[in-house]
Amino acid sequence: MRKLSSYPILHHFLARLYEDLNIFEVEDMLAFIVDDRVSSYCKCKDKGCASFFMHSDRELDLSKDDGVYIYDSDKGMIVLEFFENGDIDVQALEYEDYPFKEELISVYNQEEPLDYALENDANEELLQKIQDDAKKIVSKYFNVEQNEVPIITVE
Ligand SMILES: [Zn+2]
Repeated sequence: MRKLSSYPILHHFLARLYEDLNIFEVEDMLAFIVDDRVSSYCKCKDKGCASFFMHSDRELDLSKDDGVYIYDSDKGMIVLEFFENGDIDVQALEYEDYPFKEELISVYNQEEPLDYALENDANEELLQKIQDDAKKIVSKYFNVEQNEVPIITVE
């Protein structure tokens, strides 16, 4: 399983999504960036689907809510579901241009993916550029009209 830090766009996308949904405290956010892994992605032929699965070894505190979050906007709908065993199901639906989709598929299928955040030998300037570009791409996506208050948690 590839670390999330191998996917700069997806990594920034999730950081922004988690922030907007108010899911984690900042210190937990840093942990997820280092530790979480993409375990697989949905291979259905639906062009509007960019769903994938992750796994986290962190202890997730699901006592406050049931671990289901919905982000609904004019750029599709994302349903996040956190499970007690650390699995995370991310359903990204009804939008053809999720900015992380191409990266998700190509990095996932690379034999030896770069770990952009953790690669010690990486040229710092190059690393910074990759991070900056990823942030730019992601913030374009989040310049959206939200259809409703995005947090829905139901027991
Ligand atoms: Zn799918």
